[in-house]
Amino acid sequence: MNSSLPQHYREILKELGEDPEREGLLDTPKRAAKAMQYLCHGYEQTLEAIVNGALFASDNDEMVIVKDIELYSLCEHHLLPFIGKAHVAYIPTGKVLGLSKIARIVDMFARRLQIQENLTRQIAEAVRDVTGAAGVAVVIEAKHMCMMMRGVEKQNSVMNTSVMLGAFRDSSTTRQEFLQLIGRSN
Ligand SMILES: [Zn+2]
Repeated sequence: MNSSLPQHYREILKELGEDPEREGLLDTPKRAAKAMQYLCHGYEQTLEAIVNGALFASDNDEMVIVKDIELYSLCEHHLLPFIGKAHVAYIPTGKVLGLSKIARIVDMFARRLQIQENLTRQIAEAVRDVTGAAGVAVVIEAKHMCMMMRGVEKQNSVMNTSVMLGAFRDSSTTRQEFLQLIGRSN
């Protein structure tokens, strides 16, 4: 690590009233800096590198759905985690994406400072751009530590966001099918 991030964490510890020289904290600035860089490693990734040619010709035009993708991100307002699940679906038009790539696209955008609404949209647009899909749907359900650990302290509130593009936006049947498959319809 060639950054001054550890030095800044040391200053933060002091500002919080801690003694950065005490034994338990000696390596904390270094560790915290490393952890934060890991949590933000999505900035170093690109869609192109992640997809890396894993697009396959297919005449399948049925909905492809990947449910329950674990999601860990940091809210850009408080730098606190929000964690949850993403559900992604798309309707291919000649090209399908390697399955693990969907999860990696989710991760690339989640490992940046985010608000959940933008994260949801960025994932949907990336999947559309890469596959040329006739439609893309993304639903994210997440718990935000900035709500649970501070402020209103609403322990059980889950925030839901969704973005529907193309066929998922135009056809309520398609949208309902997706919502049913992820267990969110009534
Ligand atoms: Zn927040």
